[in-house]
Amino acid sequence: MTNCNLDKNKKICTCTYEPCPRKGACCECIAYHHRMGEIPGCLFTKEGERTYDRSIKSFIKFSQQNRL
Ligand code: SF4
Repeated sequence: MTNCNLDKNKKICTCTYEPCPRKGACCECIAYHHRMGEIPGCLFTKEGERTYDRSIKSFIKFSQQNRL
């Protein structure tokens, strides 16, 4: 596993799911959620991220709420 910025990424990661083994390994995080048809937590609004629902449907829902 190559994590060139692992420590730096961990410090700025906005995902609150702490037990995740991919935290800070952004390439693995993106690949994992892409494989699952999902979106990484860091792209959600703060409120949306905390639901841990990484579905595209949830992403759109919270993104639209943020604009109202
Ligand atoms: S978004 Fe998913 S893979 Fe990425 S750090 Fe959070 S729980 Fe882990």
